[in-house]
Amino acid sequence: MGYDVDRFVDEINEGLLCGICRDVLEDPLQAPCEHAYCSACIMAWLVQHSICPEDRRPLTAPLLRPLFRYMRNDLDKLQIRCRNCQAGCQVVCNLETIHRHEAECEFHTQQCPSVGCNAMLGRDQFEEHLQVCEFRRNLCPNGCGLAILNSEDVSHNCVAELRNALELFRSEMIGKLVEQRQELELLLDAQRRHMTQKQAFLQSQIESLKSQMTLALQDVQSLRESTRRHELELEQGALAKQRLLAIISTLQAERSSPNVVNRTYLCRQSSTPVESSKQ
Ligand SMILES: [Zn+2]
Ligand SMILES: [Zn+2]
Ligand SMILES: [Zn+2]
Ligand SMILES: [Zn+2]
Ligand SMILES: [Zn+2]
Repeated sequence: MGYDVDRFVDEINEGLLCGICRDVLEDPLQAPCEHAYCSACIMAWLVQHSICPEDRRPLTAPLLRPLFRYMRNDLDKLQIRCRNCQAGCQVVCNLETIHRHEAECEFHTQQCPSVGCNAMLGRDQFEEHLQVCEFRRNLCPNGCGLAILNSEDVSHNCVAELRNALELFRSEMIGKLVEQRQELELLLDAQRRHMTQKQAFLQSQIESLKSQMTLALQDVQSLRESTRRHELELEQGALAKQRLLAIISTLQAERSSPNVVNRTYLCRQSSTPVESSKQ
C-alpha cells in the first residue's frame, strides 16, 4: 500500500504512482516492462497472477528489480506531511526522511493494547493510561490465578469466581463424557453386529461341512459294502475253482486207470456209443 496522495504538498508525477493502489509508490519494485508498483501491492498480485497488471506481459517475483535511480531520487525528494498532521503536527519533510520523523513525532498516538479499549494515546500518556485502563487485565493479587479487569478490582470474589469456573469445567467435562460414551456405544453396536454376522457365516460353514461329512461317510460305507461283495464273489470263485479242479483230477484219474481204458475200448466196440458214454 502506497502513501496517500493527499499527504504530498505538490502535484505528483503519474510515473511515481503505483499501478495497483494508485497511491505514491512505497518500497517500489519495477517489472522488466518498466511498470512500477509498491512491493506489498505487486507481491499480493503475483500470488494469484503471473502477468504485469498494466500490460499483461508475463511476470514473476524473481523478475522484479529496484526502481531506476533517477525515479528513486525523484521519489525521495517529494515533500510529504507527517502522518500525525491531523493530530496537530506541522512537520513537512522529504519522503526519504519522513520515517525518521514519524518514529519520534510527539503527536504520534497509538491505540491502547487492552482488548475492548478504544483510547488513542500519545507517547507520554501511554504508561499512565495502562495503570488505570479499565479494560486492562491483571492476575488477581489474592492468588486465585484468574485475570481480572481493573474495573472489577473491588467486586472480584476469588471463591465465587473459582466455583463458577469449576462448575463450567464440570459441565464441559460431563458433556464431553456423554459424547464419548455415545461414540463408544455406537462403536460397540457396530462391532456386535459385525460379530453376529460373522458367527452366522461360520455356523453356515459348519453346517455345510457337516453335510459334506455325512455324504463322505455314506460313500465310505457303500465302498465298504461293495468291497465286501467283491471278497465274497472272490471266495465263491475260489471255491468253484477248487471244485472244478477236483472234478478235473477225478476225471484224469479215471481216464488213466485200466478199467476206464477197457470201458472206453468196449464202448468203441459197441454199436451204441451214446449208451456207453452215459455210463
Ligand atoms: Zn501500491
Ligand atoms: Zn508492465
Ligand atoms: Zn509529526
Ligand atoms: Zn485502555
Ligand atoms: Zn481472585
